[in-house]
Amino acid sequence: MLRAMLTGGCLCGGVRYEVSEPFVSAGYCHCTRCQRRTGTAAAASGRIVPGSLRVVQGEELISCWQPEEGFAKCFCSACGGALWSRHPEDPDAIGIRLGTVDGDPGVRPEYRQFVAYAAPWEPIPDDGLPRYPESRSAPNARPL
Ligand SMILES: [Zn+2]
Ligand SMILES: [Zn+2]
Repeated sequence: MLRAMLTGGCLCGGVRYEVSEPFVSAGYCHCTRCQRRTGTAAAASGRIVPGSLRVVQGEELISCWQPEEGFAKCFCSACGGALWSRHPEDPDAIGIRLGTVDGDPGVRPEYRQFVAYAAPWEPIPDDGLPRYPESRSAPNARPL
């Protein structure tokens, strides 16, 4: 069976990418950084299989902001559109912003993390997804 290549890009179209393997998982992040980064209450990202992301256009436009700890936030420097986050020590650990994918990413968000910091102006949807107060990947992370 032919596997459909996932494609996506930034707002202005300057950056285009391909993902050669299906997403591993996806989730919503309610952390303060994601709120600031997107201007919204929560952000959806999908984890990719290491090595499956290829930038096909606009590599030179990609900028990343590296906070003191945590994942770098990469975006298009021409339009400001968010692209993905990347682990500072493991550049293969990447979470692609689901809103940048063309069409159906083939994965659905399956958890909510950092809900302890959720925006006061938007109730967390009652969608039955497990809610983690802090990072879902933290040791001993347990949903509420
Ligand atoms: Zn752009
Ligand atoms: Zn976040």
